[in-house]
Amino acid sequence: MKARRLKRKMATRKKASRVQTVVVREKAPINYRVALPPGQRRLSFNDRWDYAPAPEASNYIKIKPRYQLFIGGKFVAPRSGKYFGSINPATEEKLAEIADANRHDVDLAVKSARRAYNNVWSKMPGRERGKYLYRIARLIQEKSRELAILETMDGGKTIKESRDIDLPLVAAHFFYYAGWCDKLQYAFPGRKARSLGVAGQIIPWNFPLLMAAWKLAPALACGNTCVLKPAETTSITAMHLAEIFQEAEMPEGVVNIITGAGETGRALVEHQNIDKIAFTGSTEVGKRILHSVAGTKKKLTLELGGKAANIIFEDAPIDQAVEGIISGIYFNQGHVCCAGSRLFVQEGVFAPVIRKLRDRIATLRVGNPLDKNTDIGAINSRMQLEKICELVDSGVKQGAKLIQPRLRLPAKGYWYPPSFFTGVTASHRIAQEEIFGPVLSVMTFRTPDEAIERANNTPYGLSAGVWTDKGSKIFKIVNKLRAGVVWANTYNKFDPTSPFGGYKESGFGREGGVHGLAGYLTLN
Ligand code: NAD
Ligand code: MN
Repeated sequence: MKARRLKRKMATRKKASRVQTVVVREKAPINYRVALPPGQRRLSFNDRWDYAPAPEASNYIKIKPRYQLFIGGKFVAPRSGKYFGSINPATEEKLAEIADANRHDVDLAVKSARRAYNNVWSKMPGRERGKYLYRIARLIQEKSRELAILETMDGGKTIKESRDIDLPLVAAHFFYYAGWCDKLQYAFPGRKARSLGVAGQIIPWNFPLLMAAWKLAPALACGNTCVLKPAETTSITAMHLAEIFQEAEMPEGVVNIITGAGETGRALVEHQNIDKIAFTGSTEVGKRILHSVAGTKKKLTLELGGKAANIIFEDAPIDQAVEGIISGIYFNQGHVCCAGSRLFVQEGVFAPVIRKLRDRIATLRVGNPLDKNTDIGAINSRMQLEKICELVDSGVKQGAKLIQPRLRLPAKGYWYPPSFFTGVTASHRIAQEEIFGPVLSVMTFRTPDEAIERANNTPYGLSAGVWTDKGSKIFKIVNKLRAGVVWANTYNKFDPTSPFGGYKESGFGREGGVHGLAGYLTLN
C-alpha cells in the first residue's frame, strides 16, 4: 500500500519534471499601490485564464415528442390536426412538436374557461382560490431546476438566468398573488371589486414562464379564468406548467393553454365571448389588437416594446455604472423590453466609460446556454437574429462606429456577440428602433436638461435608468422621465410587489403589485 503510494508520487513527480516552467519577470514591476490617474485606470477581471466547461446536465429531462393543447384540464389533440416544431436555438435541433390551434380549438378553450368561471371559480371564496395558487407556487419551486433547464433549451437563455432569475420570480409571482386572493376588498378600499370573467392572454418568447406567471397569477387571484397563448418558439415550459395545474388539482377549465402562432393569437383576440385581453409583445401587433378590440366590451392591457435611456452622470460611481450598463443591455441576450438600449453618457466621463465598456464586453462569455458560466446565450430564433443583423447594418451604413470583442461563436445555432455603437445620432435607426438583441447605442449629453429631453425623445416609455451620486438629482430627473419604471443606480431589477408597464407606444395598464390586480377587476 505504502509502496504503491510512493510509486504514484514518483510518477507524478516524473511527469511534472517534464513540464518546462517559464518565469516571466516584468522589466519594470507595476506598482499597483500608486493610484493611476482616472484616464489610465482599467477594470481588471482576472480573466487571463479559461473556464472549464460546466454544463448543467439535461439528459434526465423528459421532453415529450408531441405537446397537445391543454383544454378543460386535459391534454387534447388540436382539431386543426396540425403541429409545428420547436427547436433549441443553441443547437438548431428540433425538441418537440407543438399543437397548432385553429379557431375551433380557440373556441373550445374559451367555452371551457367560461364553464369553469360560471360553475366553479367565480363562486369559490377567495381563501380557497388562494390555496390553489399557493400549491402551484410550491410545485413550481419543487420543479424549478427541471423547468429552468427546459426554459434554457427551448429559448436559448442562459441557465444562470433561468435558474436564478426567471424561475424564482415565477414562483414569487404565484406566492404574491396567492396572498391577495382573500384580501381584494383591502386592495381598493371603499370600492367593490368584482372579477371580469374570461381572460385571453398572449405572451412573448423572451421570458416564457415569467410572462405566463405575470398574466395568470393576478387573473386567477381576482377570480377570472384564463386562456393563455405562449409564443410559438417557446411553448414547451407552458405545457409543463399545465401539468403542474393538473398536479395541483386545479378545477378543470380554470386555466386553458393553447399553442400556435399569430393566427391563433388573432383568433383569441377576436373571440366574441372574452371579457379581457392581456397582451405582451411587439408594438406593431399591440396596435393591431387595439384596433380589433375597439368598440367591444373587452377590457385591454398592452405591454409593448421599449427603447430605454440609461443615463450616466459625471458624478456616478463609474465602475458600478459600467456593470449597470452591462446588465441593462446584455441580460437575456438583450431580449428585454425594458433593456437599457440607449446609453446617454455625460461628456466628461465619456472616454473612461467607453474604455471600461470595451474591456468589459471582452470578458463576457458567449456560447452554450446550459453552461453555468455562460453570460450570453443563443438568440431566440433565426428571425430575431436576422432582425438584429439588419438593424446593426443600418447603424454601420448610417455612420455609427460598431465595437465588438473578438470571439469565436459556435458553428451551429443563432448567436450575436455583445456589441455597442458610438457616434450615434438621434436620427439613426439604431437610436430609435428596438433592436431586441445585445446591441447598445451610445450617445452623449452635457446638462441634466439635455439628458431628460433626449431620453424622452422616443415614441416608447417603458423604463429608464439614472446613475449619479446625488439623491436630489435622482428625484429631479426621475420625475421628468416619461417611463413606467425608472431604476436609480441599478438596472433590470424585478419584484412581484412592484408594478411594471409603459407610457405612449410602450402600452398601458400595469402588471405586478396592487396595480396588477386592477386590470382584472371591475371596481364600483
Ligand atoms: P410579437 O408581437 O410578434 O409576438 C408576441 C405574441 O403575440 C406571440 O405569442 C405571437 O404569437 C402573438 N401574435 C403575433 N401576431 C398576433 C396577432 N396578430 N394577434 C394576436 N397575437 C399575435 O412579438 P415578439 O417578437 O414575440 O416579442 C418581441 C416584442 O415583445 C418586443 O417588441 C418586446 O419589446 C415586446 N415585449 C414587451 C414586454 C413588456 O412587458 N412590455 C415584454 C416582453 C416583450
Ligand atoms: Mn424553441
